[in-house]
Amino acid sequence: FNTERFGQHILKNPSIAQDIVDKANLRPTDKVLEVGPGTGNLTVRILEKAKHCTAVEMDPRMAAELTKRVQGKPEQRRLEIIIGDFVKAELPYFDVCISNTPYQISSPLVFRLLSHRPLFRVAILMFQREFALRLVAHPGSALWSRLSANVQLYAKVDHVMNVGKNNFRPPPNVESSVVRIVPLDPPPPVKFEEFDGLTRIVFSRRNKTVHASFQAKGVTEMLEKNWRTWCAEQNKTIEDGVTMKRKIEGILNDTGYSESRAAKMDVNDLLKLLAAFHDEGIHYA
Ligand code: SAM
Repeated sequence: FNTERFGQHILKNPSIAQDIVDKANLRPTDKVLEVGPGTGNLTVRILEKAKHCTAVEMDPRMAAELTKRVQGKPEQRRLEIIIGDFVKAELPYFDVCISNTPYQISSPLVFRLLSHRPLFRVAILMFQREFALRLVAHPGSALWSRLSANVQLYAKVDHVMNVGKNNFRPPPNVESSVVRIVPLDPPPPVKFEEFDGLTRIVFSRRNKTVHASFQAKGVTEMLEKNWRTWCAEQNKTIEDGVTMKRKIEGILNDTGYSESRAAKMDVNDLLKLLAAFHDEGIHYA
């Protein structure tokens, strides 16, 4: 195991560890999921407030240290350690997720949590500053991106606090931030793959017009292929002379988004545009 590869930067400032756990407003009945507990600086504080904690840790040496830390104490039986990669581990039921994980798995972590059912109540997560700022960015701001839209489709995200690199041992190369993620309940009735397919296209160059983004290589072909499959499934006959290029132009003009730019479109705009494509039987996945 290599410190850099597994992002083993242990949080050494006890007041920040306490702040992170406090931000979750844990209830005595809560089951908590912790990803990458390391030596357990957050875990012991979670166990003071919650009913149970499942901690997923990839490094068996770290898991052993954490086990030692609770051994023989009453909290031992309220802690379950899963040794393995969070990305592949089977997740238990949890009300709250708290994590300071390596930044390499930031994206998979967020999307895995948001697709988990039943939905959790809140997640308090530490990320590299830039990633955190993209999660909370608003349309029209410099960091509004495909990631912002894809996450805000499913959740309300707030910036909770900045954490400087000197609070870790060894210190990482980047500054960190803690964010709070509250899933929208119920989630919007849209398939992630569809929404993601659209954001992939319009954010490929977020300052270009939507019209121009759809002219990128392969886009028309991909949509046409999906449309033909859909028509076949629905037993719809395709009239002569219909081209995908024209259909796309029609949708962009009718919805009024042809000259819009992803940099300024909010989740609602993107959902409206997606729905207009779906009305025509055109799918992104
Ligand atoms: N949470 C502790 C803290 O705040 O002091 C440790 C933080 S350290 C940045 C990240 C921890 O995640 C390390 O213990 C590392 O071994 C573990 N880890 C790395 N990749 C992981 C993965 N894919 N799944 C689970 N744990 C992982």
